[in-house]
This record gives sequence, structure tokens and C-alpha cells, in this order.
Amino acid sequence: MECELCDFNSPRIIKEYKYWKLSAAAQTPLGWTHAMLKRHVSFFDELTEEELAELKQVIKDVRGALDKLWKPDWFNVTQLGNSNPHLHVNLIPRYKEKREFAGKTFEDKTFGSGVESEELSEDIVEKVRERLRD
Ligand SMILES: [Zn+2]
Repeated sequence: MECELCDFNSPRIIKEYKYWKLSAAAQTPLGWTHAMLKRHVSFFDELTEEELAELKQVIKDVRGALDKLWKPDWFNVTQLGNSNPHLHVNLIPRYKEKREFAGKTFEDKTFGSGVESEELSEDIVEKVRERLRD
């Protein structure tokens, strides 16, 4: 079976961990990242204790970086896998009010409920990556 996340090696990757790769998503809300497991399993309950412990660290790192950059008001952690069954976790910052970044205004219109997402241009995603890597 072909799986594009099994050998995901995109410039979108911000940081590589022992078991996970962290990448910036090309979509809003501002600062949305994906934690992708480096081996192909599909479900959360297939994670080893070590992978689970490291995911906790990944989440901690992302929340720390986002708190410094844009101070999200809430944070969603979801495992969906609807478009690709390779386990990846969506780390989605949520904002009560607008944020300005890279000359663009970001508004999280569905704060307090689901996610309404907007595709981002590559130059903005690159700027998001740069800031998160710092
Ligand atoms: Zn895979």
C-alpha cells in the first residue's frame, strides 16, 4: 500500500523527534501543526508507551512555542485520519480574537465549536515554520 506519510520528508517539517515528525499545516487556524508517527499504524491505541510519552513532549513543545508566539486561548488535539490512515495527530490552536501575522489577519470564526479552516499560501506557511522552529 502506498502511503505518503510513511516517507513524508517535506520542507514543512519543523522538528524531528525519535518517534514523531512535527510539521506545519498549510491551513488555519494560525499555527496548526501535525505530529506524524514515524511508523505506519492507524490507531491511537496501537502506540507504544514510549511513543505516547514522546507525543506528550511534542504537544508540550508546540503549546510552549505557540504561547510565546500567538497566545492561543484553547488547544485542540485530534486524531482524525480521514484522508490518510497513517497515524497523525492534529494540534490545533484556537483563538477567541483575531491575530495578525505576516501581513494577514487571522480570525478563528468557529472558536468554541468546530474548526473552519482556510488554505494558506506557501510563503505564509514558511513564515509560520520559521517562527515555530525558533
Ligand atoms: Zn504510512
